[in-house]
Amino acid sequence: MEGALIARDRVGVQDFVLLDSHTSETAFLNNLRKRYQENLIYTYIGTLLVSVNPYKELDIYTVTQMQLYRGVNFFELPPHLYAIADNAYRVMCSEYNNHFILISGESGAGKTEASKKILQYYAVTCPTTEQLQIVRDRLLLSNPVLEAFGNAKTLRNDNSSRFGKYMDIQFDFKGEPVGGHILSYLIEKSRVVHQNHGERNFHIFYQLLEGGDKDLLCWLGLERNPQKYAYLIQGRCAKVFSINDKNDWKIVRKAFSIIDFSEKDIEHLFGIVASVLHLGNIQFEEDSNGHAIIRDGTQIKWISKLLGVHLSILQEALTHRKIEARSEEVLSPLNVDLAFYARDAVAKAIYGRTFTWLVNKINGSLANKVGFFSSDSTRKTVIGLLDIYGFEVLDTNSFEQFCINYCNEKLQQLLIEMTLKAEQEEYELEGIEWEPIPYFNNKIICDLVEQKHKGIISILDEECLRPGEATDLSFLEKLEEKVGDHAHFVTRKLADQKTRKSIDWVDFRLLHYAGEVTYCAVGSFSLTLFQVLCNSKNGIIRDCFLLSELDNRRRPETVATQFKNSLMSLIEILMSKEPSYVRCIKPNENKEPGKFDDYLIRHQVKYLGLMEHLRVRRAGFAYRRKYELFLQRYKSLCPATWPHWHGPAAEGVERLIKHIGYKPEEYKLGRTKIFIRFPKTLFATEDAFEF
Ligand code: ATP
Ligand code: MG
Repeated sequence: MEGALIARDRVGVQDFVLLDSHTSETAFLNNLRKRYQENLIYTYIGTLLVSVNPYKELDIYTVTQMQLYRGVNFFELPPHLYAIADNAYRVMCSEYNNHFILISGESGAGKTEASKKILQYYAVTCPTTEQLQIVRDRLLLSNPVLEAFGNAKTLRNDNSSRFGKYMDIQFDFKGEPVGGHILSYLIEKSRVVHQNHGERNFHIFYQLLEGGDKDLLCWLGLERNPQKYAYLIQGRCAKVFSINDKNDWKIVRKAFSIIDFSEKDIEHLFGIVASVLHLGNIQFEEDSNGHAIIRDGTQIKWISKLLGVHLSILQEALTHRKIEARSEEVLSPLNVDLAFYARDAVAKAIYGRTFTWLVNKINGSLANKVGFFSSDSTRKTVIGLLDIYGFEVLDTNSFEQFCINYCNEKLQQLLIEMTLKAEQEEYELEGIEWEPIPYFNNKIICDLVEQKHKGIISILDEECLRPGEATDLSFLEKLEEKVGDHAHFVTRKLADQKTRKSIDWVDFRLLHYAGEVTYCAVGSFSLTLFQVLCNSKNGIIRDCFLLSELDNRRRPETVATQFKNSLMSLIEILMSKEPSYVRCIKPNENKEPGKFDDYLIRHQVKYLGLMEHLRVRRAGFAYRRKYELFLQRYKSLCPATWPHWHGPAAEGVERLIKHIGYKPEEYKLGRTKIFIRFPKTLFATEDAFEF
């Protein structure tokens, strides 16, 4: 018994609800630290998994480990991602219901790695036929392609996902993976044209330059050296020690063929990637009238070739803007600043839409097999994996951070609602009384952002629909007027006229549940060059820019509204499924193995809502187990139940705990489960059992 206690002391407890002391943050942190130092990166809070990024390879993801967790009960093995994955899978198979695993945490905390490990787990442990191997391969290989186009080196993470991803893995009634579907959220387009110091553009640009063969680069008009490209040199770190672009290029190329990309698709795709690089090198000069002109036509010649657009029309579109005057269209020349602005806007639009095309293409290849192998009448269930960007506070927070953080607010709310709801429902179902505990409900912040007419997004929409009249300043004024007195909103005007003369920079600040963030609003409300792209001969570009969209331009949906709507449907998708949660924690800012930064971790523990979650789990009863499982595990402690008990499990448990000597205040008996109030009660039983 002593041995067990000492062992527990050294490695901490594997479930925070078993912590003996009060639910203090310090005790929580101590336990996390103890375990982290022993390379035990996973700890439960009930059924939620807390994971701390080890920043080193651990020997816990082998096929042997996967087999070990397969079909084994949640609490019988040390905490692991595989236990979460297996549990969702087993419940899905036995109850024919849908599940999701929400993986959250800040940038660099290990979300994407976790989601890949879960996918690998299913790929290895789920039954499959030879026919279905291709589905498995495609599911796995969709990752390197999406990462090439959607991930980048940032200061926080060398492989940071710059888009949100929700992936459904579809299973047939036998539990075989038969297909998948990916939803992507808001790729960070601004990175295409601008990177902060120490950061890179999306991986694919460097992969292509490093790995692409001579003929390909020649065909695309590219030089191998990334230093030649304005869109690649701003961060001053084209080469990254931890990244092997050449190798990654090979993987991506191979993935393309497995995912069923035709040579034509690939040609068009890289034509676009190259065009973006050429766009970035276009320089505008001022003519004697102060209008922008392109003196060196090299780049636009390449773009015209690769995108299949008319050279002179492209040139005109890059330096002019169409204005509608009395139902006539008039071409008005741009000044140099606005021409650069228009150029960047088109680079972002092309890249962003191509990414969406890529996701659709992958979905096509993942869906094919489902239709092929199983008829619609066959029962299919899904496990959804959500790997979404974490809460983000940068030096300058743009619209993209605003969306990312709004998304986190929504998911936090989902977690609050689902855990509290689930807990309450369980007590009700089992006929157990409990006391609700107070928690911060961030609904107030979600409302501030998304409420109809009064929310920030609505106000933004209104301003976007007043072309020509709206400015950033008027947007700010509207915000102040409508939400100025909200407890979570602050504005501050900045008169920074240096960067672009025609655009005002302004700030507003939101008090998020995870902390305070200042956003700067910058006007970008115009659509340029759209028509040129609609007539492109590049198949992907043509798919991405549809003429029909121009008809809707009088009432276009703003990006903010689109994002809000996609989030709403995501929440709906999730609400209809059984949840599992993985909360990832980043241990330090330096990507260093073994370094446990107390301050940084405490902050994350706080805003990930872990203490609240723990309190909810402990408010009523720290532990609960089905009668059958409880009896199975501890039956040897009582002569009446050992070695066999033939009566109802509930009665067996009653006999068993009477024999061990549980006091009435220590437990409650529900309909199907025993609820144990204090962790120490279970500990004592566990120790007696081990002894
Ligand atoms: P972002 O929000 O920026 O996309 P993320 O949470 O997805 O961040 P990951 O890319 O998963 O972060 O992890 C960052 C890095 O941390 C990985 O590239 C890897 O080096 C390391 N890492 C994460 N999880 C593990 C793990 N379980 N074992 C070993 N290393 C890990
Ligand atoms: Mg990621």
